[in-house]
Amino acid sequence: MSKATEKNFVILIGPPGAGKGTQAKLLVENFGVPQVATGDLFRYNLKNETDLGKLAKEYMDRGELVPDEVTIAMVKDRLSQADCQGGAILDGFPRNPIQAEALGHLLTEIGGQIRIVPLIVVDEEELIKRLLKRAEIEGRADDNEETIRNRMAVYHQQTKPLIDFYRDKELLVEINGDRSIETVSADLIAAIEQA
Ligand code: AMP
Repeated sequence: MSKATEKNFVILIGPPGAGKGTQAKLLVENFGVPQVATGDLFRYNLKNETDLGKLAKEYMDRGELVPDEVTIAMVKDRLSQADCQGGAILDGFPRNPIQAEALGHLLTEIGGQIRIVPLIVVDEEELIKRLLKRAEIEGRADDNEETIRNRMAVYHQQTKPLIDFYRDKELLVEINGDRSIETVSADLIAAIEQA
């Protein structure tokens, strides 16, 4: 990111299946800062059968949020690592107002700032189709229809309030996610560069 002296964080918001992970990886290539994806961090712990992984599993299997104190501590640890000193692409965090507040404090501590909060907007039926397809391809345990519907409900109830939270701070920008990966990426990169 061009503002070299500042720690610039981008927060990708969007419902499950909107393409946050795919887009985050393209942003990593373009801006050279790491992706911090809480879902990936939990899955890594799950695979390695750590205590954190065992705890997270029961929530993930139900499509519920892992408790805030656990999630926030994990993010705090991750953002303190050397590769995040120039900023990061946050994917899947924060996911509710408590996490958003905690992130604000964390960034104050480490001298970072939120550069922009892109909201990737995709039609809900399209999302469910995408997630079911991903289930076939990747075999993610939480990509079955019941869990998907629950994750969508959790998004509506807990994550959506963040849209107004960041809009009030004039950080939110809406990106139409119903287009090709390349088109969405080009729009996202342009929005970040202009921020
Ligand atoms: P994701 O890969 O972002 O769709 O996340 C998969 C699952 O990990 C979610 O359904 C939650 O159970 C858990 N998870 C990921 N990020 C968070 C977060 N910020 N807070 C709580 N739980 C999370």
